[in-house]
Amino acid sequence: MKNCVFCAELKPEEGQLIWRGDDCRIITVNDADLPGFCRVIWNHHASEMTDLTYSEREHLMNLVFVVEDTIRQVMKPTKVNLASLGNMVPHIHWHVIPRFTDDVFFPGSVWSSRIRETPISMLADRQKAAEELPNAIRSLISKLY
Ligand SMILES: [Zn+2]
Repeated sequence: MKNCVFCAELKPEEGQLIWRGDDCRIITVNDADLPGFCRVIWNHHASEMTDLTYSEREHLMNLVFVVEDTIRQVMKPTKVNLASLGNMVPHIHWHVIPRFTDDVFFPGSVWSSRIRETPISMLADRQKAAEELPNAIRSLISKLY
């Protein structure tokens, strides 16, 4: 669809492609405050989960859970946030976000106001851990499909 950022090519400044299948793709989201932030995007333009068939929904959610599972193993977050809003970009996508008690928004959502600064050394450690995610996610997908 014209003017839809998720129908368009991924811009390098937005993130890195981790995996791409026929129906979905998984990317890392460049956000210096939230290392490990990933997004699972339906490849074709559709705005609501109920626009997909049951098997498509299952496939998409399985990939969301692969990312959640991998984030838990690799990053050991306090919590994983799963979110599908689509108010700004009405094209099906799921945010999978590792959350920590010292992240800049916790316990608010990542769209809330910043309430603190995370220590730089902590962010650096998390960024290093997050660099393991692409290979770990691809490895888990290869075992499932
Ligand atoms: Zn779209």
